[in-house]
Amino acid sequence: NVLENLKKIVSDFLRGKEPYEIAVENFVKELQKTLLRADVNVKLVLELTKNIRERALKERPPPYISKQEWFIKIVYDELSSLFGGDIKPQVFPVKTPYIIMLVGVQGSGKTTTAAKIAYFYKRYGYRPCLICTDTYRPAAYEQLYQLSKQIDVPFCGDPKSSDPIDIAKKCLSYCINNNTNIIIIDTAGRHGYGEEEYLLKEMQDIAKAVNPDEVMLIIDASIGQKAYDLALRFHSATPIGSIVITKLDGTAKGGGALSAVAATKAIIKFIGTGEKIPELEVFDPRRFVGRILGLGDLPTLIDKLKSIERSSDLEKRLTKAIATGKISLVDLYLQIQTMRKLGPLSKILQLIPGLSLLPVDDKQLKISEEKMDKWLAIINSMTYEELRNPNIIDKSRINRIAIGSGTTADDVKELLKYYELVNTMIKNMKRRYGLLRKLGI
Ligand code: GDP
Repeated sequence: NVLENLKKIVSDFLRGKEPYEIAVENFVKELQKTLLRADVNVKLVLELTKNIRERALKERPPPYISKQEWFIKIVYDELSSLFGGDIKPQVFPVKTPYIIMLVGVQGSGKTTTAAKIAYFYKRYGYRPCLICTDTYRPAAYEQLYQLSKQIDVPFCGDPKSSDPIDIAKKCLSYCINNNTNIIIIDTAGRHGYGEEEYLLKEMQDIAKAVNPDEVMLIIDASIGQKAYDLALRFHSATPIGSIVITKLDGTAKGGGALSAVAATKAIIKFIGTGEKIPELEVFDPRRFVGRILGLGDLPTLIDKLKSIERSSDLEKRLTKAIATGKISLVDLYLQIQTMRKLGPLSKILQLIPGLSLLPVDDKQLKISEEKMDKWLAIINSMTYEELRNPNIIDKSRINRIAIGSGTTADDVKELLKYYELVNTMIKNMKRRYGLLRKLGI
């Protein structure tokens, strides 16, 4: 996979000795070359590198991170949006039985993926069932049957029938009667490339008969950016569609396929990364990019990036808290975690525009590492109800929380007191912040 090349570019950049501007320019050029080789669309590549250059010149890193590290964070952000942004696909069904119908051209990896998906859900405790409705390719029945045996999942089909809709209906009752709760329907894929219209038509015919909860389009990564048209039409044809991109392990063009599909705003749910049944992953753009950039080999950088993300989340929460004059225990939890990485609360509050002008009593808010550990454990042991409304925490709840978190009742009381203190402070801030805003500061 050519995208693997990015790891080297990143580590060269971080170790390089050239002046920052030159190193950035070299990085951008190498990045462009790599993405083009991975079949990413030229326009997308140019847009991406323009954003990276602009941000690299404009943005100032926070004090605890170097310019070089901040640059990698920019690349990480921008590449993540190229591959779909912050989306985390929802793979666990909201209802059962849940019917998934797979469509795709022959050879795309549809049958293999049907079994992979069944196996994926089985591992999470669901009871999947596989259905073969492919009446065109005699081997399809046998292939899915064998795969279902391998993973020990019920299977249904009818090699003698030539009516896919009839098979689908009968097998659906079979699966439901067998107490399965994720039903995966494999369909025929006799169409060639360019025959998308037929594919979409057939999809609609079978869909009418079985009323699926989700239709998954299987795309072979080796078609590269050609995936764009297919995904776009599919995406506009069905609101319940998602996409699986297969064979990412076997092609140089994976980057092209992923970015092209992401550009249509279709949801990529899974990626296939090998021939074996377990080689299926939920597609998370940020995780994917983290991996191709080799961030896993740079644990301190990852740590810093995580704390940046956490602190910007906290910033948002605190801004909201100050606007409403109320802070939740969940905010407090994040605050304690962030303090560990970034230092005292006053420093975090300074990140919020306007707030650096306000005096914060740091001494009063300072807590020891040991206490942070205890308090995090305490908050973790609270129920959702208690987190939302700490006022209901009475003596017996205090004792239960203490036992649950391996702390003492005094520890719990102390945390609640601290929480009160922060709340009072936030209330005061709301008043003063409102005043500052009125003054136009
Ligand atoms: P179908 O015609 O769409 O049902 O495709 P198949 O499931 O029969 O798969 C076609 C070929 O692609 C088979 O040889 C599979 O082993 C292979 N295949 C499917 N998914 C992957 C994948 O993620 N990686 C690799 N390397 N091969 C795959």
